[in-house]
Amino acid sequence: MKFSELNLKPEILRALDKKGYTELTPIQEQTFPHVLAGRDLIALAQTGSGKTAACAIPVVQSVDPSSKEVQALILVPTRELALQYVDEIAWIAKETGVSAFAVYGGFSMDIQKSKLAHGVQALVATPGRLIDLLYNSPLRLADVRYFVLDEADEMLNQGFLPDIEFVFSCMVHEHHTMLFSATMPEEIKQLSQRYLKNPVMIELIAE
Ligand code: AMP
Repeated sequence: MKFSELNLKPEILRALDKKGYTELTPIQEQTFPHVLAGRDLIALAQTGSGKTAACAIPVVQSVDPSSKEVQALILVPTRELALQYVDEIAWIAKETGVSAFAVYGGFSMDIQKSKLAHGVQALVATPGRLIDLLYNSPLRLADVRYFVLDEADEMLNQGFLPDIEFVFSCMVHEHHTMLFSATMPEEIKQLSQRYLKNPVMIELIAE
């Protein structure tokens, strides 16, 4: 399937075309129709499958650049992955006016707070720093309508389950959730049953 067949904002289609993305990768092909239709989703997927763009494109498509509130939240286990998402969102969103920013531990909270105060629509975060900011800054997640958990199994391995549950409890606006994981331990099944609404399950077999 080609990106041009999807009903995406023309600014996004132009950015994809410029980057040389024409055909969807298998994970994008399997996730997009559900995500763009507003279904919650669980995907078993590895890195290298194109999952960053599979999340980033619907994020850019769905947020409203005229509002300064955080509308999309992407939770990841590491700083490296957070920066990868921000880079991907930045080039996809270049012409749309959507702004993305990453918050993670080991970096000045004051700088992160002042950036957030200027308005960020797509926030990428590691769980510990996000919780710090929720307690110690005006950051609120009440307008989040699009929530991505990437490498969910890795976040659980690092002991972030209580933080993730707290984040779910902060999102009061109706939202769609996309959960990516390389494995599907019992804790992730239980998390999904508690917080996702009738999710589509996608399993990508590694080639
Ligand atoms: P990821 O799994 O998100 O780390 O992506 C793996 C690589 O695939 C990255 O180098 C992306 O830039 C590239 N990629 C993702 N989606 C596409 C696409 N539809 N067409 C071409 N390259 C892509």
